[in-house]
Amino acid sequence: MNDIVAEFRAGLLQGVLLLQRCRGCSHLQMYPRYRCTKCQSDQLGFTAASGAGILHSYTVIRAVPPRGFEDDVPYALGVVKLPEGVQLLGRLAAHPESREWSHYRCDGPVVFCPADAEEVQRRPVAWFTVPTDVQVV
Ligand SMILES: [Zn+2]
Repeated sequence: MNDIVAEFRAGLLQGVLLLQRCRGCSHLQMYPRYRCTKCQSDQLGFTAASGAGILHSYTVIRAVPPRGFEDDVPYALGVVKLPEGVQLLGRLAAHPESREWSHYRCDGPVVFCPADAEEVQRRPVAWFTVPTDVQVV
């Protein structure tokens, strides 16, 4: 496994969304890289994200998935902006009853929802859902 994502993936296994932080200038970046994109330092660590986010955009893949994702269809991917100042692509959990994603809104709140270990091993990606205190209309 690539060293720069190992700690990120370990965080997902522990139910924590980790962001890479530069020890030199405190810059946060996502996804992990070998160097700080602000000061080029290679002294990088990780810090836990709050788990809050805003859904910038999303799509539901219902047909013609990339190779290897055929068994996941349908599934949703979203670009989530975090209050820490970074954004990432994540999976969106389907509504538990409708099994759909129509309750998501662009620019609406989402929260990190840790996947179980088996899912993280299969797809090491952050999952998000709509917070329970948000009214679904
Ligand atoms: Zn830096």
